[in-house]
Amino acid sequence: MSDFYGKGILKGLSVSFKRFWETYLDDLTWLGKRYRTDEGIAHRSGKDARGIFTVQYPEEKIPVPEEFRYIPFLVYDVEPNGENKLRCTSCGICAKVCPPQCIWIVRSSDPVSGRPIPDPAEFYIDADICMNCGLCAEYCPFDAIKMDHNYELSSFKRNILDKASLSKSAKYYGSIRPTNASREDAARSAKVAARQGKAE
Ligand code: SF4
Ligand code: SF4
Repeated sequence: MSDFYGKGILKGLSVSFKRFWETYLDDLTWLGKRYRTDEGIAHRSGKDARGIFTVQYPEEKIPVPEEFRYIPFLVYDVEPNGENKLRCTSCGICAKVCPPQCIWIVRSSDPVSGRPIPDPAEFYIDADICMNCGLCAEYCPFDAIKMDHNYELSSFKRNILDKASLSKSAKYYGSIRPTNASREDAARSAKVAARQGKAE
């Protein structure tokens, strides 16, 4: 019955006005730092946010958690001679387990003997088909393919990523997934130490 007199509308408007007013209050409290700083975005994404807290993408970006995954990338290590060496051995396991079959690999071969070389001559991922499941990264036995945090890949053309555009350094991997990278580095070092121990 009360809504008949417009009380509900007034109540709704008062909530909107409160939000509007609290936006300026929060701006004053944060001295403008609630915009375009990691702390400010975290504040507006959290339970203590007051006022209007829409993230103003693309000027502002919500920080993604470490386990966030988008399109995979290929990890390379920098060799002592300065060469970038992909960890991928072109074994093909990732391509086999990929549910939508969006990975294509061409293995290198010795030009004289024709025997396969454990190094991909070509490596493609169709980013428009990839469903970001992360199975390729889970199954790779060489920590050679990992899920990226970069989600800004939209374009007006078909997004087929080649070996050059997929390759990123182990340092980059460590910067986006520090926990996983250090755990995997420790496991690899332990394996190498165990092999050396057996050889002695
Ligand atoms: S990324 Fe890993 S699983 Fe895929 S081909 Fe290379 S080594 Fe094999
Ligand atoms: S994330 Fe999933 S869909 Fe995408 S390439 Fe890897 S296995 Fe395929």
